[in-house]
Amino acid sequence: MTEEKDLSILYTKKFTCPICEQSFESMKLRESWLKVDRYESDLNALYNGIQPSFYQVLVCPFCGYSAVESKYQKLKPAQKEQISKAIMGKWSGKSYGEERTLDEAIVTWMLALRIAELGHFSNVELGMYSLIVARLFRLKGDKESEMRFTKTSRDKLIEAYSEDEYGGFPAMHEGNTTYLIGELSRRIGDKKNASTYMGMAMKNDLVKSDPRLMDMTREQWLLVKEMDDGKENI
Ligand SMILES: [Zn+2]
Repeated sequence: MTEEKDLSILYTKKFTCPICEQSFESMKLRESWLKVDRYESDLNALYNGIQPSFYQVLVCPFCGYSAVESKYQKLKPAQKEQISKAIMGKWSGKSYGEERTLDEAIVTWMLALRIAELGHFSNVELGMYSLIVARLFRLKGDKESEMRFTKTSRDKLIEAYSEDEYGGFPAMHEGNTTYLIGELSRRIGDKKNASTYMGMAMKNDLVKSDPRLMDMTREQWLLVKEMDDGKENI
């Protein structure tokens, strides 16, 4: 991909912040132009060249309110008040409206995660936002931070599963959530939860009905069983 094509894949769009009501511009990515290079076992789609997650979070340069575009304006009055109270007057004034580096993309997702916590977003949202931060740290090669956010994500997804609540993040359901909890548990070396949840994913109808997810579940289940060498290995 040439540099010129890389640039034309980005365009500028205008937004209005629901917290401070000021307008700002931010770069967006024409995601439909992107091609998936490969899938990773934490269900991440790695794209050729630029990653969609680099430009998915809008950050208001005036007050720091940050969220994905689909949620940007969708604050309930109580959330607006909680978020406004917590961030008002604390923002550095930095703009993330231009082309973003990997480090800047990480900051935008950590800001979105912080806002999601302040606004009491659903556990599945908190879990998936944390997972996106973990994936970006993996891209950076920062293993320690990747593992820290992988654990946060896993814990939040366990809460989502225990509440049977998957709303708020696209395409999440009981099947891929149990798979992810199993896989993230494997990644952080938690054999017990890796076995429990990957075993559940193996039997889940939503996993069985998705050939790619089922294949991945079978492959990772073998790795989980290797973790359990000895008496726990069925
Ligand atoms: Zn604002």
